[in-house]
Amino acid sequence: MLEKLLGPVGVGRRDGVVRCRCGAVMESRGVKTKSIETLLGPIAFSRSAYRCPVCDRTRHPGDEELDVVKTRYSPGVRRLVADFACDVPFKRVSQQLHAAAALQISRKDCERIAEGVGEDVARWFATQRDQVRFTEAPPPEAPKTLKTLYIEFDGTGVPMVPHEVAGRKGKQADGSARTREAKLGCVFTQAECDEDGRPIRDPASTTFIGAIEPADRFQWRLYAEAVRRGLFEARRVVILTDGAQWIKNIVQTHFPGAVHIIDLYHARQHLVNLCRLLFDRDLRRLNHYKDRWWNNLDEGAIDNIVQQARSFLPKDPKAGKDARCEIGYFGKNKERMRYAHFFDQGLFVGSGVVEAACKTVIGQRLKQSGMEWTVRGANAIIALRCLVQSNRFEDYWESRVA
Ligand SMILES: [Zn+2]
Repeated sequence: MLEKLLGPVGVGRRDGVVRCRCGAVMESRGVKTKSIETLLGPIAFSRSAYRCPVCDRTRHPGDEELDVVKTRYSPGVRRLVADFACDVPFKRVSQQLHAAAALQISRKDCERIAEGVGEDVARWFATQRDQVRFTEAPPPEAPKTLKTLYIEFDGTGVPMVPHEVAGRKGKQADGSARTREAKLGCVFTQAECDEDGRPIRDPASTTFIGAIEPADRFQWRLYAEAVRRGLFEARRVVILTDGAQWIKNIVQTHFPGAVHIIDLYHARQHLVNLCRLLFDRDLRRLNHYKDRWWNNLDEGAIDNIVQQARSFLPKDPKAGKDARCEIGYFGKNKERMRYAHFFDQGLFVGSGVVEAACKTVIGQRLKQSGMEWTVRGANAIIALRCLVQSNRFEDYWESRVA
């Protein structure tokens, strides 16, 4: 039945000529038939073929109409493969599709299809990004309809096939790398606090973006997502990070008016490190100052910590240097550690959302044991997972239909 229904598509007389991408008028080459895997089984699809006399390209307008250009899988099948491949390894996708829809698609084809969809999703994101990049910000007096917009971002390692990490420095014992860093960002909103004044994340407001890419490309990805989510409509913009340098550069470049907060739990970790460096095996003093400075940290009294810590610098040159470095971390970041002030304002002070997302969006699918990725393959799946977890899977398929 489906075959019959699609019979008239892409054949017969056309209004107007078929043009090649090079501009030349293409010549008809008669009707050609190809087989298409659909959710209802395989069908034969016959449609007119055209060839360009100038550059030799071919076109099948019928394929364009049905969204099956250069593929023998229908959009319905591709969508299902992509949906499954988001969550499970390609071998399981192949098995599940067979069990659920009697589709016979090899593991390798599942991988190819999912990668193809993922790459197209990445292009779809990129188009939106470019639109944002060249759009001017509204004047500052424009109405602010959003209360608080949060932006968090972080990196996490993805295991790679050997040639993707050749010559790169890493954490392996011999100094080589086994992983590459995927950068992940998330954006969410907060309108209210609970009875105790603690902030509540707006339900279903979190969206994700990510890729294995250098920071100077990632910054545009993040910025565009922030704009899409209401960067200019928000009364307050809060950036929550672990304080790494590449992160600070992005904040300075793209979000100069935002409140930048260093994740409280990272700050506490630094505090524990500092205490170890200063007091070494003197557990009594270590615990005493850890508790004391921990409270200072909550109060945002960073100057106290810095001044006191300086008076305990160890004599050992290596420990002394490391301790000065940790003290420097607090000195440099004290504006971003005014936790008491942030609590009073009803703001989140922990970057737990992006840390959880590193596990749920990236880790659960890309860091299973034995897995090795190419950058291309990993980025396709990351794009798909960001799309799905941001509740935008439907938007993407609708845009393809359009
Ligand atoms: Zn041509």
